[in-house]
Amino acid sequence: MNNETLLKNLRNVPDFPIPGIQFKDVSTLYKNPKCLKIMVNELYDLYKDKGITKVVGIESRGFVVGAALAYRLGAGFVMCRKPGKLPAETLQETYMKEYGKDTIEIHADAISEKDVVLIHDDLLATGGSMLAAYHLVKKFNPKQTFINFIIELSIEGLHGRSVFPEDAEITTLIKIE
Ligand code: AMP
Repeated sequence: MNNETLLKNLRNVPDFPIPGIQFKDVSTLYKNPKCLKIMVNELYDLYKDKGITKVVGIESRGFVVGAALAYRLGAGFVMCRKPGKLPAETLQETYMKEYGKDTIEIHADAISEKDVVLIHDDLLATGGSMLAAYHLVKKFNPKQTFINFIIELSIEGLHGRSVFPEDAEITTLIKIE
C-alpha cells in the first residue's frame, strides 16, 4: 500500500543526526490534520477485524499514532520505553545496536495471555528496535502479535523486514525505495 499524500508531506532532512543519514521526519505527518486522519484511518481498516486488544507504541514517535489507533480500535495503549522511565515492575529486553547495547521495557502487568497485540512504530530501518520489542512482547505470551510501521525504508542496503521471523505479520503504509 502506498499513499501519495503521506509521501508528499513527509519531510526529508539530509545529514541528521549525523552526516550521510537521510532522516524521514514524521513530525510533518503528525502535524498535518489530513495526514493524521489518513494514517489512523488506514491502520484502522487494516486491523479492525483482527481483535486487537492492546496497541504497544515504541518510544517516542510510536506513541502518537499508536494511541490514536488504540482509541479507534477500542483497544488499550501500552508504552514501550527506554530504561528507568516506567515506574512500576517491568519486563525488559536488551539488544545490540550499531554501537553498544540498548534496553527497552514494558510494565509487567501491561499485557496478558488473553491479549491480541499490535506493536507500532513510525519507521522501519534496520528493524533492530522493533525486533527487540517483538521479543519483549512475546515474553508476555499474548494470543497473537502484529507489527506495523508508518514508513518502511528500503534504501541504502536496508532490509529491515528480513530480521523478523517468517511468520511475523508486518504492515507498512508507505515504502521508500
Ligand atoms: P531501526 O531499529 O534501525 O529499525 O530504527 C528504527 C527507529 O529509529 C525508528 O523508531 C525511527 O524513529 C528511527 N530511525 C532510524 N532511521 C531513521 C531515518 N532514516 N529517518 C527517521 N527515523 C529513523
